Order: sequence, then structure tokens, then C-alpha cells
Amino acid sequence: MWVERTAGEREQWNKIAVREARSHGLVIGGMVWVVLSLMLAGGWVASAQFAVVAESGGSGSFWKRLPIVAIVILPLCWWISRREGKRKLHSAIHRTICPKCETAAEGNAGLSCDCGGSFMPQSTVKWSDEPKPDPAEDSISRLGVDKAKSEEFIRTLAAADIWVLAVGLRGVPVIQDLKDPAAWDVIAEHHIDVSQVGDDDSIHPFNYERDGRQVFPFFSSENFANHFLRNCGVANISLFKPYRLMSGFVATPENDLFELVLNPKSSSERTIEQTERLLLRLLTKPKE
Ligand SMILES: [Zn+2]
Repeated sequence: MWVERTAGEREQWNKIAVREARSHGLVIGGMVWVVLSLMLAGGWVASAQFAVVAESGGSGSFWKRLPIVAIVILPLCWWISRREGKRKLHSAIHRTICPKCETAAEGNAGLSCDCGGSFMPQSTVKWSDEPKPDPAEDSISRLGVDKAKSEEFIRTLAAADIWVLAVGLRGVPVIQDLKDPAAWDVIAEHHIDVSQVGDDDSIHPFNYERDGRQVFPFFSSENFANHFLRNCGVANISLFKPYRLMSGFVATPENDLFELVLNPKSSSERTIEQTERLLLRLLTKPKE
């Protein structure tokens, strides 16, 4: 199945794509350089543009003309190499795939496919033969699966940091609802890396619809967050990154419209009950 690349893997992909595009450009530029030099020096091409060059060798021998011609056309070949490299990189970046039916295409990321899936940049997904095993347990995820330890679970959670998936936004653009495609346009336009969020910027946490309810996923570790990123199958989720917060954030009244789910897409998935939410809110309330 196709899974999301992690931020680190995407960075790696970019590095390789840039390197490959550059060497592709150099090969093409080099070939043009060699062939054109030989042809011009040999007088096999008498185009108006290069006639001067070829002529400048005068009656001299092929071997005399060759180095001159080679130097004169070098800038042109360098330009061709750069252009070819850019073209190659551009097409690599815009290559897409529908993870559902594996149709490959170009330049249509985010558009929906005939099969009902949606196209994603190939740079953000990779083929994985088997689902990754669950991340290592931690004290919170372990307590979460034990329904008998509800209170201990919430008390431990209240004292801990959690991870959400967030996108940084330049300024404070209004985002209504992630179900609305227009919201994604706003995100695409304003998004910045969560590590670069300044005082005038905002953070938008990820939520999604599941079985008719709007779920706010949060995680007990960065590994659980990355595990979800890889396995949730939501288009464009790659804009979001794990972001560390105090656990009280998820229990604030602003998030009452969401169902709070800890570590979704793992075997430690745990929905927070209403009483648990209120206890967490109480325990994490700022002291007055
Ligand atoms: Zn498809």
C-alpha cells in the first residue's frame, strides 16, 4: 500500500531529486557540448549562427578549431544543462499518483481521481509492503487501553505533554472547517513550517471526519503521531507535522465540538469519554 513519507523522508526525497535532476542536466548538456563541438569544428554544420565560429578557425585543421569551438559554445551548453536539470526537477516534483488505483499523472495533485481517490505528489508517498508495526508503548498509551484505570490514565495525561498534528499559518487566517475544500486552499496559501511560527502567526491543529463525527486526534508520543501520518490516508495531510503541546489544550472548551481520540490508527487507540474530558480540563486548568 501507499503510505505517507515522514518529514525526514520527504527531505531526503528532495535532496535526491535535486541531485538526480542536476546530473541529468549535466549529461544532456555534456552530450550536446561534445557532439556540437565535433560537428562545428568539422564544419558539418553551417548554420548562420555558428558559421562564424566554424569560419573563425579559417583554413586551420579540425584539431585547431575544436578547442576554440568547444570554449565558445560552452556557455550555451551550460545553459542547456541548467534548463534540462530544471525541467527534470519540475516534472519529478509535479509527478503524482492516486494511491487507491495507482494511476500516475503529472501536475494534478489534490484533484480527485475517477476511482474516487485523490492524486498526491509522488514525493510525499511511498510504497510499503506491510503496514508499519505500532510505535513503542509509553505510560500514557498503556494506561489508555486499560479501561479500569480511567482516572489514573487522565491524571497521568494531565501531567504530560501530548502531540497533535499542526500546520503553521502566516498571520491569523480564518479557517472554518477542514471538511470544506476552501479551508485547504487557505492552508495551502498561508502554511509555514510549525517550527517557524512567530508571535503574529497561528497554529491550526488537524481534525478529520470519521463515522460522521469530527475527530481531534492527539498522540502520546511523536512516534504515534508519525505513525498516524503514514497510515491515515488523508490527502494533503503532509502539510501537517507533529507538534508538542501541554495536554490541557485538547480539553479546552473550544475543542468540545470534537471527539478526542488518543493515538488513532494504532492498537492503543483510545476515545476520551465526556467525564474524562472534564476531569482533564479540571486538572489542567491554569491556577488563578
Ligand atoms: Zn484512482
